[in-house]
Amino acid sequence: MSDSDKTIECGTHGKTRATFVCQHLISGEHLGFNCGYEPDDPDDLYPDAWCDKCETTRQVEGEWNEKSEAISDIAVICAHCYEDTRARNWIQDDQEWNELVSSCCQLFQRRQEKFLSKFKVGDHERWDLDQETGIITFSHEGEPQVEAEIHFVGTYSRKSNTWMWAWANYLDEEKVRSASRRIREFGEEHKFLGLAAHLSDATEEDAGHYTAIMAKELDAIGIYRTTKDELISYMVITKARWVKKKKLFWIF
Ligand SMILES: [Zn+2]
Ligand SMILES: [Zn+2]
Repeated sequence: MSDSDKTIECGTHGKTRATFVCQHLISGEHLGFNCGYEPDDPDDLYPDAWCDKCETTRQVEGEWNEKSEAISDIAVICAHCYEDTRARNWIQDDQEWNELVSSCCQLFQRRQEKFLSKFKVGDHERWDLDQETGIITFSHEGEPQVEAEIHFVGTYSRKSNTWMWAWANYLDEEKVRSASRRIREFGEEHKFLGLAAHLSDATEEDAGHYTAIMAKELDAIGIYRTTKDELISYMVITKARWVKKKKLFWIF
């Protein structure tokens, strides 16, 4: 159904990408929000979406067929209207969200202290990242000191106060952005909008929470962030080692 190349002229938002949602979502509130990705577009920013009622029918029917499609009566809306529709219909358990955030943050505060004291990443002069291998190297006086395996979480813009997940950043290599898809899937399954939407209004605190959640999900040993102009890139570190030491053990 979906076609990311199609555009639509919206009375409110002008010309944007065409998106597809069930008829109930368009005017509804708190109807639940379910979506599905086309196999040839696994990182679709606006996957086709339908309400909980349509989801129940789809499950009873076992697939999208004449009956389930007739009930959903999919309509075309603009990408901005899609975002509004999603926010309005999304059902999230805020208590569950707060518990997730606080447990991940607590865990990561401890792990991060341990990581920093073990690898002193704050003390090295520079870092270089090879996106193809996913290895970041911290160097001092021209000598590599610590090597670490990283996965991008996402970027926070201080200019627009928005967060964007790494999987949505097509300019980055697959190697460093692929793990973040797991968090999107987790967000869709547990109905946490901030994890499921590729872009959202956020604070730096939110960015830290998202990073802690991904760090826990990947059982990371630490987190790292870099700042360039108004953009902060967040990554999780899944293993690291000192380069200079003779015994080269990866520490998990
Ligand atoms: Zn529906
Ligand atoms: Zn619109």
